[in-house]
Amino acid sequence: MRFWFSIPLWQRVLGGLVLGLIIGAIWGPEAAVLKPIGDIFLAAIKMLAVPMIFATLSAGVASLGDPVKLGRLGGKAILIFMGTAVVAVVMGVGLGVLIEPGAGLAVEGLKSPVTPPPPSFVERLLGIVPQNPFASFAEGEILQILVFAILVGVGCVLGGERTQPLVRVLEAGAEVMIKIAGLVMELAPFGVLGLMAWVAGTYGLEALKPLAVLGGTLYLGCLLQAALVYTGLLKLMGLSVKAFFRGISDAIAVAYATASSSATLPVTLRCVERNLGVDKPTASFVASLGSTVNMDGTSMYLALAAIFGAQAFGIDLSFVDYIGIILTSLLASIGAAGVPSAGLIMMSIVLVQAGVPLETIAIVAGVDRVLDMARTAVNVTGDATTATVVAKWEGRLDQKVYDSDDDV
Ligand code: ASP
Repeated sequence: MRFWFSIPLWQRVLGGLVLGLIIGAIWGPEAAVLKPIGDIFLAAIKMLAVPMIFATLSAGVASLGDPVKLGRLGGKAILIFMGTAVVAVVMGVGLGVLIEPGAGLAVEGLKSPVTPPPPSFVERLLGIVPQNPFASFAEGEILQILVFAILVGVGCVLGGERTQPLVRVLEAGAEVMIKIAGLVMELAPFGVLGLMAWVAGTYGLEALKPLAVLGGTLYLGCLLQAALVYTGLLKLMGLSVKAFFRGISDAIAVAYATASSSATLPVTLRCVERNLGVDKPTASFVASLGSTVNMDGTSMYLALAAIFGAQAFGIDLSFVDYIGIILTSLLASIGAAGVPSAGLIMMSIVLVQAGVPLETIAIVAGVDRVLDMARTAVNVTGDATTATVVAKWEGRLDQKVYDSDDDV
C-alpha cells in the first residue's frame, strides 16, 4: 500500500494506460468487460464538475474583497484575461480542425448510445439566466451556474464585512472540492486501465498514435500562444520580451513541474514583483485572481480535446457546435481550480455540451499529466503577462527592476 502511494499519481496513471493497452492488445475485444471500471471513474469526474465550478468561481470573485479593486485594475485585468483566452481557445479549435488529432483513432463503434443532443446556440444564449438556480444545479446547466456563481461572488463583494462568513464557506467549499478531486484522481489508474483495455482490445495499439498527435498539437498551440499572444502584448506595451521570460523562468519551470497554477502562485508572485518590478497590490490582485480564473492553456486544451473526441467518435460538428465548444471551454476554464487534472474534470462539461462521448476523458487521461504540465506553464505565463501589462498600463511598473538582469 505504502509502495503504491509512494509512486507519483501521474506515473500510476501512465502505468494504467500502458497496462490497459497491453491487456487489450492480448485479450482482444473481450477486454471490454473491463470498461465498467472506467465508467465509475468517469461518473466520479462528472459528479465534481458542477460543485467545483460553483465553489471556485464564487469564492474567486468574492475574494476580490474591495469593490474599488474590482474597478480599474480589475477591468483591465479581466479585459486581458478574456482577450488572451479567446485567442487561445480559437487557436485550440483551429489546430484541432487542421491537424485532426482524433482522426486516426476512429472509435465510432464505441460510441455510447445515450449521448444527449446538444441544445442549439440560441437556446444556449437564451438560457443563460437561471430562473431557478437549484434547477440549474440539478440539470447541470453550466452557463446558468456560472452566472449565478459570479453574482454570488459580486454580492459578497458588495455586502462587505457582513458577508464574510459566506465567503469563508465558499472558500472552504472550493477547498473540499479540490480534496475530493484528489481522491477521485486516485481512481484514475484503474479507470484508465479499464478504458484503454477496451479501446486497445477493439482497435489494437494503433490507438496510441492519435494521443501522441494530440500532445504534439497542444504543445504547438502552447508555444504559439506564448510566441504570438504574450510576446505581442508585451511588445505593444514597449516591454522587453527577453527580460520578461528571464524574469519568470522560475515560475514557468515550477508550473511545468507541478502542473498546478495555485501551487506555483507564490513563485509567480515573487517573480513578477522581484524580477519584473510589478508593484505588490497589482501583482497579488492580478496574479492571484489569474491563478484560478485565467487559464489560457486549459481553455485551449478543452476545445482541442472536444474536437479530438468528436473526430475519434466520428461526430460531425456544425458551426454552432464549434461556437458552443469555444464558449463552454472558456467558461469551464474559468471555473477550473488551479490544481493538477482540473482540466480533465472540466472536460466533462465541454463534452456533454458538444454531444461528444465522455469516454474521451478516459482516452486522454493516460497522457494528461504531460499535457497538464504544458497548459499549466501557459496558464502561469498568462497570469504573469497580464500582471505585467496591467502594471505598465497603470504606471505601476518599476522599469529599472524590469530591465535589470539580477533576477533570482
Ligand atoms: N493544472 C492546471 C492548472 O493548475 C489546470 C488544468 O488542469 O488545466 O493551471
